Parts: sequence; C-alpha cells; structure tokens
Amino acid sequence: MLDALFSQAVIVLEKLEAKGHQAFFVGGAVRDYLLKNPVKDIDIATSATPTEVQAIFPKVIPVGIEHGTVIVRLKKQSFEVTTFRTEGNYSDFRHPDQVQFVNQIGEDLSRRDFTINAIAMDKSGDLYDPFKGQLDIRKQIISTVGNARDRFHEDPLRMMRALRFVSQLNFTLEVETLVAIKEKVAWIEEIAVERLAVEFEKTLAGQAVSDAMVLWSTVQMWDKLPVFKHDPILVQSMETIQTPLLSLHEVFAFLKMEASHVSIKDMVREWKQSNRTFLMADKLVRILHLYKQDGIHNWLLYQLPETLYEAFIRLSRILYQVEIKKTDLLAVVDSLPIQSRKEVELSGTELIALYPNREKGDWIATYLNEIEKAIVDGELLNKKIEIKEWVITCHPPKNN
Ligand code: ATP
Ligand code: MG
Repeated sequence: MLDALFSQAVIVLEKLEAKGHQAFFVGGAVRDYLLKNPVKDIDIATSATPTEVQAIFPKVIPVGIEHGTVIVRLKKQSFEVTTFRTEGNYSDFRHPDQVQFVNQIGEDLSRRDFTINAIAMDKSGDLYDPFKGQLDIRKQIISTVGNARDRFHEDPLRMMRALRFVSQLNFTLEVETLVAIKEKVAWIEEIAVERLAVEFEKTLAGQAVSDAMVLWSTVQMWDKLPVFKHDPILVQSMETIQTPLLSLHEVFAFLKMEASHVSIKDMVREWKQSNRTFLMADKLVRILHLYKQDGIHNWLLYQLPETLYEAFIRLSRILYQVEIKKTDLLAVVDSLPIQSRKEVELSGTELIALYPNREKGDWIATYLNEIEKAIVDGELLNKKIEIKEWVITCHPPKNN
C-alpha cells in the first residue's frame, strides 16, 4: 500500500489513465519512498503529451513544455508531470540536441542518471525496475544506468550528482562509476555554474558530507569549480567539514570565517548567486564576529533575523565548538527593549532639530545608530526626553 503522501498524487495518475494514458511515479520520490525517507516532491512520468495533460487538468503551469514538463496543481499541491522521453545527443555538453517523446516507460527510465533514480511505481505501488535500482538501494550503491563514461559524456553534471547522492543518502559509489568520474572530471568545466551550484548546495547539506568532501578531493573536483580552483586554502577548509551546512550562504559565511582573505562578494559572483545570498552570508559573518568578541548579547541578537538562527547555531558549533540553544536566543530577543529601529522614540527630524546649525551629513546615521545601540544594550531608556539628553551629552552642539 502507498504512503498517505501519495494519495493526492494517485488521483493524478488515475485521471491520466482514465483518458487511456500510462502514468507512473518516478525519480527521487520513488527512491525516497523505498528508502523510507521523507518524500519532498512527487514527479510523475506519463505517455500523455503536455497538450494532453493540459486538456485533462484545470490548473496546469507550462514550466518546460519543450522538454515535456508541466506542473499540475491539485488541491494546493504541485506535481511535476513529464512526458516519457529520451534525450537524443548532447553534442554541446549542455542540452540534449532534441528531446524525443517516446511511448514506453522503459525508454524513459533508460535516460535517467542512476539506477536508484530509474524505478517507476504505479498507482498500486507495483514497481517497474529494469535496471535493478532496488538492489542498489539495498546495497547502498550509486551506479549509472548503462556505461558510466557515456552517461557522463552526455551530461557531466551527473558526476557531481553522483557525489551529491553519496552525501545525501550515505551510499557508496559503484567502482566503474567512481573510475569514470576520476577520469572525466574535467568535463565538469563545461557545465553552467547555476546547475553546479544546485548540486554543490545539496552536497554540503547531506548527512555524509565529510565522506563527500573526501571524494571530491580524491577525484580532484575542486580544480574544476569556481573559487576553489584558484584557492587551495579554501579547499583545505572544505575538507575539514564534518557536519552538514544547509545553504550556500552558510557555506560562504563558513569560508569567510575560516579564510579572511576571501571576499563573500567574489564567491557569490563566481557561483552566480543572488544578492540575498550575499546579504545573508555577510550578516552571518558579522554576527559570528560579534559572538567571538562578547558571546550572546542584546546587540547581536537584535541584528540576527530569526531565519538565520539555525545557521548561526550550526556555524558556532563548527567554528567555536559551542552548543547554543534556540530557546536561549528567543528568551534574549523577547527581553530586548525594542525589536526594530522604528520603535526608537526620537525621529531623524527630531535629531536634526537638536543641531540647527549643522549641515546634514553622515553624522545623522551615526548618531541614530549610537542611540539605537544604547537602547538595545539597556544603557538608555527609550523615552524621547532621555534620548535627547543623552545624545546632547555625548555630542555637545556648542561648536556644531
Ligand atoms: P531530490 O530529492 O534532490 O529532488 P531527485 O532524484 O528527485 O532528488 P531531481 O534533480 O529532482 O533529483 O531529478 C528528478 C529525477 O530526474 C532524478 O531522480 C532522475 O531520474 C532524473 N534526472 C535528474 N537530473 C538528471 C540528469 N542530469 N541526467 C539524467 N537524469 C536526471
Ligand atoms: Mg526531485
């Protein structure tokens, strides 16, 4: 019997079958289900073309019609539905020259990367497993579907994916697959950085990340990757990682703390990540420096958004071998005199009015910062009159 999580997805299969099409669960969902790991998203493969899928379901988002993929929305859940396909030639290392729709699930499974990812499951939970993926799941082995060299030549990203699954699942690499990666790792340089970044992030977040890092060194993956190819010191830091880092901003913050000569901006740019990643990595680094100086204190927590708590806890464990509890952080936050700058009782205009003869300039932001920090640290009461007195004592207006 199928897991409750699949019950909604079964309806998608039934609706496709009712119109005479074949439909199966495929990919990571089936693998994770067989491993009894939590299933995140459910991929479906079908003989129906995207147009036929669109005709069956009222809400369909055409995310990649040319590759045969649409998203079917059903009761607030999303399912990626892809037409059975093969991928033709990959003459430029990047994209298949043409995607060919096919009629058989078997052909679709044969284009998939690893045996553990090439199992199809029907709505009753019966498995179609032509490449013995279940056996490899039992043996805990990552093995390509077919000849490893050929499969890596078609799409070199698969080499990085192989190591990603080692990290995520704590599996080992089948020997031919490992030998092929060692030989052909240079092909990685042909792959778009954005695709590499997805696998890089998932590898670092895996339970067996330290094994994966050893393997990356063994196969000399580092020489092929942005930032690391020019910086052996960063590679050494990566090799020390023992526990997962769940996102790239966390990884970049870790590297900056380990090797101050690197620039977060450069790492973000070379890995083609967003400004948001930069801001979060940068904030984490500033917070970790504050922690190193004075431990947990009001000003530190005031600046740390709750979304970064877990990352801060993990990084202080790795960098300083301390165990910070989230509940302790929350307790300090609750006791802060203010939660944001908006709550400061003196406005910018009121501050400027205290220095009528002074030209506007950087001093305004500096004073406002000092006021904010003094209030947060409990040195100054958040009352307009008190703030005025305090700021005038600190910065007498006499000479302007
Ligand atoms: P995750 O749990 O991270 O989502 P996943 O196995 O579902 O893992 P996806 O990247 O979502 O990985 O891909 C879904 C499926 O598509 C894979 O299980 C595999 O069958 C196939 N696939 C994905 N990328 C490739 C690739 N580069 N080459 C061949 N098959 C691939
Ligand atoms: Mg997936």
